Amino acid sequence: MNNQEISLRRDSAISKGVGMQTQIYVERASGSEVWDVEGNRYIDFAAGIAVVNTGHCHPKIMAAVSKQSEAFTHTCHQVLPYENYIRLAERLNDKVPGNFDKKTVFVTTGAEAVENAIKIARAATGRPAVVAFGGGFHGRTFMGMSLTGKVAPYKKNFGSMMPDVYHVPFPIELHGTSTADALDGIAKLFKSDLDPERVAAIILEPVQGEGGFYPAPADLMRGLRALCDEHGILLIADEIQTGFARTGNLFAMEGYDVASDLTTMAKGLAGGLPLAAVTGKAEIMDSAQPGGLGGTYGGNPLGIAAAHAVLDVIEEEDLCNRANELGSRLKQRLNEIRSRVPEMVDVRGPGFMIAAEFNTADGKAPNPEFTNAVRAEALKRGLVLLTCGVYGNVIRFLAPITIPDEIFSEALDILEASIDAVKGA
Ligand code: PMP
Repeated sequence: MNNQEISLRRDSAISKGVGMQTQIYVERASGSEVWDVEGNRYIDFAAGIAVVNTGHCHPKIMAAVSKQSEAFTHTCHQVLPYENYIRLAERLNDKVPGNFDKKTVFVTTGAEAVENAIKIARAATGRPAVVAFGGGFHGRTFMGMSLTGKVAPYKKNFGSMMPDVYHVPFPIELHGTSTADALDGIAKLFKSDLDPERVAAIILEPVQGEGGFYPAPADLMRGLRALCDEHGILLIADEIQTGFARTGNLFAMEGYDVASDLTTMAKGLAGGLPLAAVTGKAEIMDSAQPGGLGGTYGGNPLGIAAAHAVLDVIEEEDLCNRANELGSRLKQRLNEIRSRVPEMVDVRGPGFMIAAEFNTADGKAPNPEFTNAVRAEALKRGLVLLTCGVYGNVIRFLAPITIPDEIFSEALDILEASIDAVKGA
């Protein structure tokens, strides 16, 4: 079967609601490389959307999963618990930023972590409302999509959103919105629409992911912390895309001088197995009734075993420093390209969570056509890239942090040739 034949079958078998970035059907993957059913090889700068930060099929992670699968694969932790679940919680309680006692709950997906963070915040505060940011992404469940700050495609045709969710502008200097504007937006909201005493939580991504790889400025984070402290609101850091060495720290919040009360994580946590978690202040985490949190697969043994190995690999292979090293090489190369490609209006991001934004050549309007053409050209040449951004005019670079130098150089050459090809077309 070739890619095209499988694609045709997909069209008649799979809901159109599941979007597609490529028509490449994977046969195997290793490190930063993927091979499709036709034997074509690709360099993977998507990493399953920031999931395999530790590379595809890292031998240590595979060995941990295989060892666990020989022992047992599922008992449901609420029924017959297992020690490595507790130990992983202890490791996360220790590593998640915040100088206070912490507790953790494991779930299965990022959206589920967000759902649970909001449930916990509501239970802890006895308040219903949540404030989120325009352009933010928090998942596709009802609360997840309600919190997400983009209508199409995430909320379109899906009816009423959850009540008591409010959006304020996210500061993006490039688009003319400052931190002061964002904080002013919240002040106005609290004046005109929403009593701050009804607010359970403010949620944000330390670096907006799907929304376009915009880092939250340090003064925004400080301002939000102060506002939360003033009104008894909880601050939730959604680290689902930023976590696990991607930003040059294990968690992006390590780069700020204030801590969140609750942290959501998923993706990179278990290197490709479905595992997610909420970690936060112990007394807040304890506010739900026994049985109010959890799920059949939450903290599945295979995911837990993989996550232990992921944390070990990040430490042993010094992946936080490696992320910074790779990110600065990528930024340097992008900035060189930018000096002769006026469409590339910005190169940004911490660690190895880098993006390039593209506008029309006069710099005035978002240019999703150019962006998408670069993505398609790179794919033809064997490099898988992802776009993002509210206007679809950002390329985000999410290669595994374990990528070897030679493959990284090869990928940068493909990237440059692809941009040149589109520019010359
Ligand atoms: N929050 C953030 C910041 C994300 O990037 C994502 C996934 N892109 C989610 C939540 C939802 O995670 P999942 O797809 O695992 O439900």
